[in-house]
Amino acid sequence: MTMSNSWAVTVLTLFPDMFPGPLGHSLLGKAMSNGLWSLDVRDIRDHGLGKHRTVDDTPAGGGPGMVMRADVAAAAIDAVPRNDRPLIYLSPRGAPLTQARVRDLAAGPGAILLCGRFEGLDQRVIEARAIEEVSLGDFVLAGGEIAAMALVEAAVRLIPGVLGDHASTSEESFSSGLLEYPHYTRPQDFEGRPVPAVLNNGNHKEIAKFRTQQSESLTRARRPDLWAAYEKPPKP
Ligand code: SAH
Repeated sequence: MTMSNSWAVTVLTLFPDMFPGPLGHSLLGKAMSNGLWSLDVRDIRDHGLGKHRTVDDTPAGGGPGMVMRADVAAAAIDAVPRNDRPLIYLSPRGAPLTQARVRDLAAGPGAILLCGRFEGLDQRVIEARAIEEVSLGDFVLAGGEIAAMALVEAAVRLIPGVLGDHASTSEESFSSGLLEYPHYTRPQDFEGRPVPAVLNNGNHKEIAKFRTQQSESLTRARRPDLWAAYEKPPKP
């Protein structure tokens, strides 16, 4: 496979040294060496202004902290070849990332990811470049880098050939709209807790039924939101 048709992510960050970090390890790191995906990390500060390479300024209207300048962010974005890739700003105000969105991203050509710092990004560049905002969840990080890594890790593991063929991504949590069933392995007895008997009887139909029941009861108990959508899928 040539690099041009492998999944290509560009990350715009003020802390390029943070990458590849965890993305260079284990199966993802191996897949990167094998050319299944590529990571292009760019320093936003290369587009900073003046001799101090300034990237931020005080918020208009006052208030604490600093805001990343629209012109600097736009220059960093405009220097990246788009190649039909979605342009995403990691932001707590974005649409929460879901496995469905991750699957879409993994099926596409890659992504351009903008990592914020400080109080965030001047709103005008978000509008002027039609940037999509994606959130990792309802909590606030100090910067977008860990969120970008999480998005990349979730997408890259779905690229064919990245996980061994023993691994199934069709049965895991969220793929069916349910949480995954619990796993067991040796020993047969752990501190008086046996592996559920049905998993030892070799009856694959019974095992599948048991796992579905477990998935359903876990989802009902822990994620009423997922359970409601599973019972009554939204009309297309
Ligand atoms: N003042 C902002 C938070 C800024 S946190 C607010 O209240 O919305 C600094 C940077 O961290 C953000 O620009 C964003 O890139 C990143 N970040 C913080 N929380 C995040 C989350 N939940 N998901 C994705 N990125 C996040």
